[in-house]
Amino acid sequence: MKPAGFEYLRAKSLDEALELLAARPGDARPIAGGQSLVPVMNMRLARPEALVDIGRLEALRGIAVEEGVLRLGALTLHRELAGSPAVAEHAPLLSRAAPHIGHEAIRNRGTLGGSLAHADPAAELPACVVALDGRIVAASRRRRRAIPAEKFFVGPYTTALEPDELVVSVEIPLAPPGRRVAFHELARRVGDFAMAGGAALARRSGAALREVRLVFFGVGNRPALARAAAAAVEGRAASPDVVAAAQRALATDVQPQPDLHHSAAMKAHLLRVILGRLLEELAA
Ligand code: FAD
Repeated sequence: MKPAGFEYLRAKSLDEALELLAARPGDARPIAGGQSLVPVMNMRLARPEALVDIGRLEALRGIAVEEGVLRLGALTLHRELAGSPAVAEHAPLLSRAAPHIGHEAIRNRGTLGGSLAHADPAAELPACVVALDGRIVAASRRRRRAIPAEKFFVGPYTTALEPDELVVSVEIPLAPPGRRVAFHELARRVGDFAMAGGAALARRSGAALREVRLVFFGVGNRPALARAAAAAVEGRAASPDVVAAAQRALATDVQPQPDLHHSAAMKAHLLRVILGRLLEELAA
């Protein structure tokens, strides 16, 4: 299918982009890599009157360590996340997750800001940014604010962004020494969206796992922070009994919803399998 007609506006500066969005709230949509927006426009699930192309704005690029955070520009490509030494050092969870996003062609154009703003419940990066306790920096003509990732994802394809706001960057607290990360997803084929997946962080103290944080995706309306499962592991070694207790606790954290291909019971099973793999990797 082809999209409905729209006006194409290329912003030459961040100020101009914000002005264009403020002038037509709700009618104008930003476009970055176009890897989600173009397909939904082609399917006529979205019919913006105008697209504001932010893809060439240098102000939204760059990966830098400053003031205790890793700052990732909104236009950071999935390919750049996967290959950046700074990301590997300070937020290795993102390096682990990025290669799972679609295919190479998509990773060459898709952006971090686009993935977060699109808020697909099956997407990898929103779950990782929640696990990492990141903050999404949004700007409009009115204000600039940093939104904690846990509050940013409101529901399927819905975020806390106002129509005139752009994601300009993402701040990730630098990984403390000794942090371990794990990432697993189950997909039908390489490049497909995950049926279910999970991202995990912890610190090892002897055999015990501490500061455990577990987030799952592909199973609900938005990234699911699994507090009860994490509490079942906190301060303990990931023995078979502890893993089983965490898998039982997970049922109180996440009640998976069925989709076209998978029942809720199957998703719950996949989640338990993924949790077992995450804990095994954190403990290894
Ligand atoms: P765009 O398509 O340009 O925009 C997406 C949405 O975000 C739009 O609503 C747009 O208005 C808004 N937006 C973009 N940038 C900003 C900004 N800076 N501030 C505010 N709003 C903004 N994704 C996955 O996570 N995992 C997958 O496995 C996966 N597989 C895919 C497979 C295929 C075949 C395709 C076509 C896509 C797949 N995707 C997958 C989706 C895609 O990779 C991401 O959603 C995409 O990269 C989003 O980034 P983008 O720059 O392309 O966003």
